[in-house]
Amino acid sequence: MIYDTIVVGAGPSGCSAAERLATEGFSVLILEEHRKVGEPVQCAGLISPRTLQVSGVTEDVVINRLTGVRVFSPLGARLDICAGREHALAVDRAAFDRYLAERAQEAGAELLTGARVRDLQRTGTGYRVTAYISGNCTAFDARLVIGADGANSLVAKKLALPAGKNPRAVMYAADVELHREDTSLVDIFLGRQLAPGWFGWVIPLNKHLCRVGTGHAFCRRKHSPSYLFRNIIRSFPEHFRDMKIIRYTGGIVPMGLAPRIYAPHALLVGDAACQTKPISGGGIYLGLRGAQVCAAVAARALREDDLSEKKLARYQQLWEEEFAEEINCGVGHRQSYLRFSDSDIDQLLRFLDKPYWKSLILKHGDIDYPSWLARRLFSAGPWMQKFVRAALALNGYGLNLKNGLKNILS
Ligand SMILES: Cc1cc2nc3c(=O)[nH]c(=O)nc-3n(C[C@H](O)[C@H](O)[C@H](O)COP(=O)(O)OP(=O)(O)OC[C@H]3O[C@@H](n4cnc5c(N)ncnc54)[C@H](O)[C@@H]3O)c2cc1C
Repeated sequence: MIYDTIVVGAGPSGCSAAERLATEGFSVLILEEHRKVGEPVQCAGLISPRTLQVSGVTEDVVINRLTGVRVFSPLGARLDICAGREHALAVDRAAFDRYLAERAQEAGAELLTGARVRDLQRTGTGYRVTAYISGNCTAFDARLVIGADGANSLVAKKLALPAGKNPRAVMYAADVELHREDTSLVDIFLGRQLAPGWFGWVIPLNKHLCRVGTGHAFCRRKHSPSYLFRNIIRSFPEHFRDMKIIRYTGGIVPMGLAPRIYAPHALLVGDAACQTKPISGGGIYLGLRGAQVCAAVAARALREDDLSEKKLARYQQLWEEEFAEEINCGVGHRQSYLRFSDSDIDQLLRFLDKPYWKSLILKHGDIDYPSWLARRLFSAGPWMQKFVRAALALNGYGLNLKNGLKNILS
């Protein structure tokens, strides 16, 4: 049998693309290397209410609803932003993935777990995909292959579409027992010795359980993420008093626009296609949106029996039309942030700790589209201008702040 599509990887992006194609009547096979979809979890599971809506997953996966954030500087400043409404949801990530996989199957997709793809070979009609299943090599043929196999995508490597030069966040995290009186606020820790180029986090799940993590990004590595993790715990002893580790986790997130996410008879989606937010490393929302665009282009190409490079290039075009500016802005902000000393961070938090700026942050802050807030904060004077300078340059506005500001606000 020749499948219309083989999807490699049963994460949210792969399952979502598979479901959409199966719903359109195409034969779809999903190959997932792990025995259980969604496990092991390598994610903090923080998503926006919008993401839950886009995913179509039921509210059952929601463990906690977060209404605000406390940002800690390494030098003692603290910025508390508390909204009256929920801005983020902490979800059971394994259940989230399982739900999407079940829905893909209900739509008609076949799912093979414990099937690790190890090779792709071009055939006259598309690709032959070889996978290890229970120690045996099994081959499957498809007209189209979708690589949804995450940050270390084998499909991308085999197709010579690696985004190897893109920056990566490397993270170390844990599920912990930690007492929290207020369970509605996420904590963010900033500082060169705690999370260079990145941030540390505590996401409360309830009064006794939290997700904690940190990492580094966009910078030459000085310390391992596990060292940074221990450093945060050491630096805020009151905060982490009596904390008990339940389970360590971590992983990487690739960031920035991937140079190419299509090839003849093949597409990449999700982390494999660098569809992540450079400000937070969040990839679930962008991966789901990527899957929508990917499946729409794939369905048309399959229907017209034209899986040429030219036809599939439409996917990259549509993706970039929608997200290139947002992603470039995020990369720019991260690069600017690298130039911030601990003292800069401290002063910035103290500067923003005023009713006007806080209300602006509350009004325009959106975890899926951080550039919306960045644009508004522009007028916050030299601090913010320093912060957004690289973002403007990346988006082609040059380094002229005045013109950049005019363009971006228009
Ligand atoms: C520590 C950490 C915290 C994070 N926190 C958040 C967060 O709070 N919110 C958020 O939105 N994002 C977060 N992310 C990012 C998020 O986890 C990813 O962006 C998201 O999982 C991407 O989904 P995906 O479907 O593209 O890939 P994945 O979820 O990585 O799925 C890829 C799938 O492919 C399978 N696979 C890989 N190789 C093969 C192969 N050769 N053969 C068969 N199967 C294969 C894998 O087993 C996996 O199931 C975090 C990431 C990390 C590392």
